[in-house]
Amino acid sequence: MNAPNARPGGLEVWAPSVMPPIGVELSHEQALAVAFRHLAAIGFAENMAGHITWQLDGQTDMLVNPWGLWWAELTASDICVVDQDAQVIRGRWDVTPAIHIHTELHRVRQDARVVIHNHPYYVCVLAALGRLPELVHQTGSLFVDDLRLIDTYDGEIDSPTRAADLAARIGNANLTILANHGVIATGRTLAEAVYRAASIERVCKLAYDVMLTGQKPVTMKWSDMAGMKASLIERAAEVYWAGAARMTIKADPDVLS
Ligand SMILES: [Zn+2]
Repeated sequence: MNAPNARPGGLEVWAPSVMPPIGVELSHEQALAVAFRHLAAIGFAENMAGHITWQLDGQTDMLVNPWGLWWAELTASDICVVDQDAQVIRGRWDVTPAIHIHTELHRVRQDARVVIHNHPYYVCVLAALGRLPELVHQTGSLFVDDLRLIDTYDGEIDSPTRAADLAARIGNANLTILANHGVIATGRTLAEAVYRAASIERVCKLAYDVMLTGQKPVTMKWSDMAGMKASLIERAAEVYWAGAARMTIKADPDVLS
């Protein structure tokens, strides 16, 4: 990304002087509930499967969704807190052992404050074929040099040992597709992780539709994509999140309760 021939992008090129705000101050639980509702609304969630975990800066405990509730129905008061070993320390619901996918990734990735996992449909089409999406549109630049494929499925990740092995295979990638399973998106902030999660499903849908044409897509140059990637991460993620939050709260203010 910092190679000399990379086209510049991001805040280096343009920084907004004003950003449309969410309009209300959100607690961490409220913000997380909004993230669940938004991702469910755009088809990212397979009903109640998957988790979002959020390890606040300087902490090892993490906010998480409980077992059994659909992403589309979560409210702020449903959000639980688990410690780094997945023991529930706050909340009125239970949390499944599948949460270890998150705890073990947080343990080795200080930068990944937020980890999102679910089984969005078009990601799963490519995951069934054991392949990564071809990056055929500028939004795909978000994932250039940052995609990983775990190309075999070996059952449920339900123990810390199996999850630690998966975390080692993910390495420093912010987006990993798991064959026959789904996707893991990470971010330094909730906005960044949500933006990656939302974008990968669209990127996979587009790649799939392009594959169906049987024709060869026009290729983009890495040097152009690198600048675009910086713009998407440094500028688009925050404004995407603010808009998603405004619309989610407007659709059902109860999400904040
Ligand atoms: Zn899963």
